Amino acid sequence: MTHVVACLDGFDPEYLAATETPGWDRIADEGSGGTCEGLVPSLTNVNNVGIVTAAFPAENGLTGNTYYDPERDEQAFMNDPSHLRCETVLQRRAAAGETVAALVAKDKLVEMVGQDCEVAASAENPPDWLADAVGEPPGIYSGGASAWLLDAAVHLLDTRDLDALYVSTTDVIPHKHGPGEPAAEEWVREMDDGVAALAERGDALVATADHGMNHKSVCVDLDAALDREGLDAEVVRLITDEHTYHHQNLGGAAYVYLRDGDAADLDWLRDVDGVEEVLPTDEAAERFRLPADAVGDALVLGTESSVFGPVDDGVRGEVDLRSHGSHHEREVPYVTTTGATLEYNVDAFPALE
Ligand SMILES: [Zn+2]
Repeated sequence: MTHVVACLDGFDPEYLAATETPGWDRIADEGSGGTCEGLVPSLTNVNNVGIVTAAFPAENGLTGNTYYDPERDEQAFMNDPSHLRCETVLQRRAAAGETVAALVAKDKLVEMVGQDCEVAASAENPPDWLADAVGEPPGIYSGGASAWLLDAAVHLLDTRDLDALYVSTTDVIPHKHGPGEPAAEEWVREMDDGVAALAERGDALVATADHGMNHKSVCVDLDAALDREGLDAEVVRLITDEHTYHHQNLGGAAYVYLRDGDAADLDWLRDVDGVEEVLPTDEAAERFRLPADAVGDALVLGTESSVFGPVDDGVRGEVDLRSHGSHHEREVPYVTTTGATLEYNVDAFPALE
């Protein structure tokens, strides 16, 4: 029995609406499909780790691409397994004697989701035997990297006796191309072909996404806004990572750590244009199942069209990009051969049991 979970990075439901997807539709007809909720902050690693641990951040500990360490008073990338507070489903299955594999786009993610896997590889730096079999992967900033990952997953299913396989693609195309644009249509067709090929080979499959994607036109400088109010604070923009080509480190979610005072001092922030919600620690933890000890004094979420980042002069500026991070990119599509109904994308592995 081979269980396959495919996470199509940035596969917003609007892409499915804009392009014909016969493979996806057939799985939905014969099994089930629909939309489910991803995790907030709606970021790649948060959701990949959520899916692979089958757990919310409150349990698995992964709260963003970047975190703030108050004791050292510095921000750092949250991109290695030391940040995980629980085992992955793949680790538990490997410990039970099963053969498991994980294929992801980037090296840093493979360290977190590929622990104890017989095969744990990235498109960024694949082992020679995989590149020899599937071809050299296009660069991870190219549109072809996602199709290469699904091809590599098909190759593993064809050549190995796996009990479980996780494959996760990259969101460079949805960051750069909206639904219906030619490059997006090509990508959607490649994802559709790949998912159909996986469904043919696995005994049970869930395909879903980590987060959606929206066009962003407004940038709010939270540091400048807090400064203007005379508040000494650390703003952690949660999308911040080393892969800035995708999103320019502009996303719609931030944790705010106040050096003095508490979340009540941030009430005014709700009225700043481009800010949709300011959730104090306990509220954020409860609503999005986040660990209360790692989200600062408040979680700040943007509107559908806004991101948080530096503005040259003042608090509010204009941008033109596609990005994610807020609860507006939380809804994701799914299909499964099992007929199960998924409430959350983190239910993907449990839905196969
Ligand atoms: Zn992503």
